[in-house]
Amino acid sequence: MRLDKFLCKSTDLDRDAASVAIINGSVTVNGAIATDCAMQVHENNAVCLNEKPLMPRPSRYFMLHKPADTLCSNVDGAYPSLFHLLDIEHAFDLHIVGRLDADTTGLVLLTDDGRWSFNIISPQYQCEKVYRVTLRDPLDSEATAAIAATFAAGLQLQGETALTLPATLQQVDEKTVLLTLTEGKFHQVKRMFAAVGNKVVALHRAQIGAVTLDVDVGEWRELTLAEIASFT
Ligand code: URA
Repeated sequence: MRLDKFLCKSTDLDRDAASVAIINGSVTVNGAIATDCAMQVHENNAVCLNEKPLMPRPSRYFMLHKPADTLCSNVDGAYPSLFHLLDIEHAFDLHIVGRLDADTTGLVLLTDDGRWSFNIISPQYQCEKVYRVTLRDPLDSEATAAIAATFAAGLQLQGETALTLPATLQQVDEKTVLLTLTEGKFHQVKRMFAAVGNKVVALHRAQIGAVTLDVDVGEWRELTLAEIASFT
């Protein structure tokens, strides 16, 4: 990881303070002063701040039930960042694994382990994300079967060259479906239903891989060891 990140993960310094300490020459890596914040260091490198050896805190993994009208962002914007809901130390060191739109609710995973989150986000790993979709126009079984076939074959979204990866559609009731995707293009669910002439009026992510949302809206919990291991 980057040297400035290593400092954040092993001290109470934020990114700016870590950069100042590095640029000032207060940090050594394997005995040599290191002044490049972007220098790559490994956990078994000897990193010292003012001659005191540093040990990064272990990585952390959480699920959070995102309410509507919150942002998957580190900063507030038109709505507050959902990081305000995470009342833990150094919450802003975490990143969100697969963002949701402001009006989408449901399962958000947060971690400071970049390699772990890559396994979830990268289409190459085929990690399934299950969305409960509420539609404007009701679907009868014939329409559902036709859309399911289109989504299974992959469709071309406006502005994209590649087809969407095969997705699975399951009807819950006439206006509610479950859609399972293995990728996360920008506004993908809304764009897929727009492409077949319908409109998403509510969207909720219920599951990512083997992790199912089981906390109330606005609440969070640490992932279990089995849940963490399920993505490695
Ligand atoms: N697809 C969307 O359109 N929006 C989301 O928030 C997630 C997936």
